[in-house]
Amino acid sequence: MTSVRIPHVAYFSMEIALQSDVPTYSGGLGVLAGDTLRSAADLALPVTAVTLASRSGYFRQQIEGGRQLEHPQAWNPADHARHVPVKVPVRVGAREVWVTAWEWRIESHCAESQPVSVLLLDTDLPENHPEDRALTGTLYGGDAAYRLAQEMVLGIGGVRLLAAIGCPVEKYHLNEGHAALLTLELLREQMERSDCDLDAAIEAVRRRCVFTTHTPVPAGHDQFEHDLVHSLLGTLASAELLRRLGGAERLNMTLVALELSGWVNGVAQRHAEVSRAMFPGFEVHAITNGVHPWTWASDGHRALFDQHVPHWCHEPELLIHASRIPLEDIARAHARAKASLLAHAQRVAEPVALAPDCLTIGFARRMTSYKRPLLLFSDLARLRRIARRYPLQIVMAGKAHPRDWEGKQHIEQLHAIARELEGEVPLVFLPGYDMDLGRQMTAGVDLWLNTPQRPLEASGTSGMKAALNGVPNLSVLDGWWLEGWEEGVTGWAVGPDGPHDPAVDSLSLHDQLEQVIAPLFYEDPQAWLHVCREAIARNGSQFNSHRMLRRYVLEAYTR
Ligand SMILES: *Cc1c(COP(=O)(O)O)cnc(C)c1O
Repeated sequence: MTSVRIPHVAYFSMEIALQSDVPTYSGGLGVLAGDTLRSAADLALPVTAVTLASRSGYFRQQIEGGRQLEHPQAWNPADHARHVPVKVPVRVGAREVWVTAWEWRIESHCAESQPVSVLLLDTDLPENHPEDRALTGTLYGGDAAYRLAQEMVLGIGGVRLLAAIGCPVEKYHLNEGHAALLTLELLREQMERSDCDLDAAIEAVRRRCVFTTHTPVPAGHDQFEHDLVHSLLGTLASAELLRRLGGAERLNMTLVALELSGWVNGVAQRHAEVSRAMFPGFEVHAITNGVHPWTWASDGHRALFDQHVPHWCHEPELLIHASRIPLEDIARAHARAKASLLAHAQRVAEPVALAPDCLTIGFARRMTSYKRPLLLFSDLARLRRIARRYPLQIVMAGKAHPRDWEGKQHIEQLHAIARELEGEVPLVFLPGYDMDLGRQMTAGVDLWLNTPQRPLEASGTSGMKAALNGVPNLSVLDGWWLEGWEEGVTGWAVGPDGPHDPAVDSLSLHDQLEQVIAPLFYEDPQAWLHVCREAIARNGSQFNSHRMLRRYVLEAYTR
């Protein structure tokens, strides 16, 4: 008999969503990291995670006169985590920066589980220079030098801190290229420990590293000028080696991670294909993302699944049996989630009246151009016409990165459109998109809309949360939806699986709403509920982080 021993994995991520109001995340990447670790705890897997403390957070979003204002969102690790009485040095430019950590424990609610430790790296120590004390302050803040220094603290400081506490790491999982510098630290150690040649040392590092790339958007891949890298990284790696691994023009962190990882994956089938075309010569596997079932099911749905699909938490594949759940119970759980969302929205957007029986469309994502938050409003005359026959209301949310000027403009435009549609199509924009609001919205609307520009949506995960709660998707055929979509069964497509054409997508979106979705919702409630139930059974049973992590274990960690 053979048995597979699971190696101890160190999971590195620049952001991890631990708890809704703890601002160590900005969006999808951090939520995915958190869901991965929540599943690791449920499945009692030997995983230790490393991230930055992000004491000043990402930012708190305020909307004033339709514009986004950004405020720091400070938090104190001491309120939630245990201080780890260890510090390690990382040389950043001319100074030694001391890095310490806080241990956050992710507890599971499942039997036979095992808490997962998350190390929150922190440079806010009195022995550090004031500038260096702020390095673990703002998530994705500052200029290129600040970002590079943060990545040094994460990658190099993280490896050293794990060693200092005696964590028996066997595999390193790089969640996105931000953690790529850990490979250079491992390479340095390898060369120091044994006097093997460079190529043998590279092979040894590759055997220990797994890399997940998360976006086909070029701006999503960190690149730093070689001069800057040289001035901050110093002697950790030679200029020649850095050019060989990370590119001659600039140091591309994705390239470094690809070169030094023995196993690489994209986060959906299509994304892996696109990544292979972007980085020819590298083998890129596909493990499609998933969401943590217990975290994202609404209170009503948790109770519903407990009753009809026992053990769904530990084995979400069982949700395929959602077909046993009576349609009226599905309707009741949804009505409860919808009432809770509308009550919240009503408090925030007082003068706009939202009705519980009105077809409610939800859209929440990072506000940035390729997500196309305005596509639904590309033909206002037609939208008004549809709404006269079939009443519609819309709930939106999302933050724009403080330097994404177009994204911020989209928020302003949405507010202008909301004023234009007043009295005809109620539209509310809820500020401060975070996990709590995401949970309320994905469970509480009737239809989850996603309109990214193909093929730039690597996976997307909010639609999976919606499906888990019996909310069907209306989405462009990209990312996970290419795998979860069954037309009229789990939801509906916007546009074809073909070349990007905004006019075709706009037409298709309005046609689907007017001719298929709204008539079904208003004229055949039983058939509508069938789609809701199939979304749970066919999408919820598959697109969860338990399935995803089990695949990482078997295909990436144990090979
Ligand atoms: C799930 C989630 C995301 C990611 O959703 P996408 O579908 O990838 O846009 C982002 N932010 C929050 C707060 C979430 O809960």
